[in-house]
Amino acid sequence: MEYDVLVRNGLLIDPFQGIYEKYDVAFSEGKVAAVEKSISGSAKHVIDAEGKIVTPGVIDLHVHVYYGVASRLGIDPDSTCLMKGATTVLDAGTAGHVVFPGFRKFVIERARTKIYALVNIGALGLIGFGYPNVEKAMKNMDFIDIEETVKCIEQNRDIIKGIKWHRTYGQETLVLAKWAAEKAGCFLMCENSALHYLPVEMVLRYMRPGDILTHCFHGGPASTVLDEDGRVRPEVEKAARRGIIFDIGHGMASFSFEVAEKAISQGLLPTTISTDLHYFNVNGPVYDIGTTMSKFLFLGLSLEQVVERVTSKPAEILGILPERGTLRPGAVGDCVVWDLREGRFEFEDSLGEKRIGEKLLKPLAVISGGELIHKST
Ligand SMILES: [Zn+2]
Repeated sequence: MEYDVLVRNGLLIDPFQGIYEKYDVAFSEGKVAAVEKSISGSAKHVIDAEGKIVTPGVIDLHVHVYYGVASRLGIDPDSTCLMKGATTVLDAGTAGHVVFPGFRKFVIERARTKIYALVNIGALGLIGFGYPNVEKAMKNMDFIDIEETVKCIEQNRDIIKGIKWHRTYGQETLVLAKWAAEKAGCFLMCENSALHYLPVEMVLRYMRPGDILTHCFHGGPASTVLDEDGRVRPEVEKAARRGIIFDIGHGMASFSFEVAEKAISQGLLPTTISTDLHYFNVNGPVYDIGTTMSKFLFLGLSLEQVVERVTSKPAEILGILPERGTLRPGAVGDCVVWDLREGRFEFEDSLGEKRIGEKLLKPLAVISGGELIHKST
């Protein structure tokens, strides 16, 4: 049999299937055709992944890809996400309901990257991000319309998975966002506000099991998941136990090594690892999903724990497992071959703090929809 792509001899890490072993993976007609110890047959493209890591296509649960409209936030999804291994992404509320149709037609439907989205509770979303006067004007409560937001979700159920609440809108709008999410029957993603007047324990109070707290290891300057003595706050522990999802959303100001180190040492692990990739951090300190995953290898998570947090976990949250997030036969043919490099690599958090890690994940090949779309030479 001739396949479209055949990946041979790689160490397959597929947490959904419980596989951490050398396997061959074959793709045809856009899907995973076979996963076996040894696949005979030929293919248009054969990749020898001996000594390399093979994972399902990565799902980045927090990016901003409304390119051109959010002109100081949105980046091109294919070059910054897909080519770096994130075959599926969730845009975290760049568009509100007023500008969502354009996002769908001109970005989501044209990109090779599979894009899901959260609709922002603010009508215009984050399109004014990076323009202080516009941002200020858009904090106005008049920019929130629950009926229209719910209507937008109902008309785009195939793409919109939830609602995004942004801390700059303030506490009153958190109530409205929660109400809209309940009305639309979807989850709510809240920012860990890290603000004095809106501490994380206050935000968590409005969140239901299945809702996502992004920027979970924000470094402050005010409230973080840690108390003044560096202990994980009891309200945070309670929230994790009752099923709130703790998402990284690294970003340009929202990830602290110190908070991550203290939280992880006390057993608070993130549920999902995401980048919050956008215009201001794609050239550092975030760069891409592989660099963000590597930071968590440095922080002591195992390769399997890291891969789970960018494949099966986000797929489960988005309700797209086992179609995506796994290389189970029949799933969408999205796959990444990684080089796990060893050496001394400098990593930087959002506060300019640096750490030296010994492992770095670099994507060598990306397969999307069963086609080989990127291969390093
Ligand atoms: Zn964001």
